[in-house]
Amino acid sequence: MAPEQALPDVDDSELVLRFPGEPITHDNKAQYRGRLQRRLLINRCTACGAWHHPPKPVCPQCWSSAVEATEVSGSGVIHLAVFLHQGPPAEGVDYSTPYPVVAVDLDDAPGTRFTSTVIGADNNDIAIGQRVRLDWTTRAGSPMPVFRLDGEVKK
Ligand SMILES: [Zn+2]
Repeated sequence: MAPEQALPDVDDSELVLRFPGEPITHDNKAQYRGRLQRRLLINRCTACGAWHHPPKPVCPQCWSSAVEATEVSGSGVIHLAVFLHQGPPAEGVDYSTPYPVVAVDLDDAPGTRFTSTVIGADNNDIAIGQRVRLDWTTRAGSPMPVFRLDGEVKK
């Protein structure tokens, strides 16, 4: 990451407080620091170039520890879509709709998928192959990456 894109200077305990209920660990704390600036970060190995997600301290391809949280656009294609009729209570989640969950193949990080929800769309329009772009919402007072539909479905 370039110096001008430095992550926010919040210590680990404050980071945990900023994302109540989120499973923040040593391995994913850079990603959560990125969320504070509404930047989606995916780990990339600087030794072999492979991307991986969820975050791990070692590259699963070459075992290098030269892993860097790298910003991506968040644009991609829906690989999987499910609609939850029930689930754990969560702020901003309405299971009566029902609640969409998608896994998206990220354009900028080949081989990785990022899972979140889709906002601003009718559930009938959410489909596998649909292009999406990244957007942000606020959950429990914290920035959360989400997707919006963007363009046509690839058949
Ligand atoms: Zn590697």
